[in-house]
Amino acid sequence: MQRPLRIGLDIDGVLADTDRPALEAIGRHYGRQLDIDDWRSWRLSDSFPDLPGVDEYSDSLFSDEAFMSSLPYVPGAIWGTFALARRGHRLFYVTSRAERLRSCTGRWLGANSFPIGELLIAPGSKVGIARELGLNLFVEDSARNALELAEVCPVVYLFDYPWNREVSHPNITRVSGWREFMRKVAQCLSRSR
Ligand SMILES: [Mg+2]
Repeated sequence: MQRPLRIGLDIDGVLADTDRPALEAIGRHYGRQLDIDDWRSWRLSDSFPDLPGVDEYSDSLFSDEAFMSSLPYVPGAIWGTFALARRGHRLFYVTSRAERLRSCTGRWLGANSFPIGELLIAPGSKVGIARELGLNLFVEDSARNALELAEVCPVVYLFDYPWNREVSHPNITRVSGWREFMRKVAQCLSRSR
């Protein structure tokens, strides 16, 4: 791989631990305990068809500034991003969040002391941004985004979650989280030396 790397980082599910708090909030709203292992597809209503209006409720949650600002970070995310930045790689935070969440997202990155990087909002597809910026590595948790990005990025790492287990592509490598991702990037870079 060409160095320094130009790395695209998804935010929700990769930097921000969004989905567990969301599922807890949804469970509280419906008076049910929901298991993340049952969240098998992007649309919540496909996984939890007995919760009326669950897609609308989750959309309202994901656009709620107070909720999005309160999210914890994924274990290892700050350590990993700093290690990448220290090695001279360029970081781009590329999120599908709505434009109106730009300031709150920037504040969240700053409040959690993530390294400086460009914040890009891509509410539809991330492919155009990845191509324009010439990103050669992307980290995602969305099945759809990962498959699209794999057509323009030579290396896509997919953080393993129940909703992306069906995904497979020659350019996609599944990892359990930040520790395994960092190990694989180091191996990949030492092989291409
Ligand atoms: Mg995500």
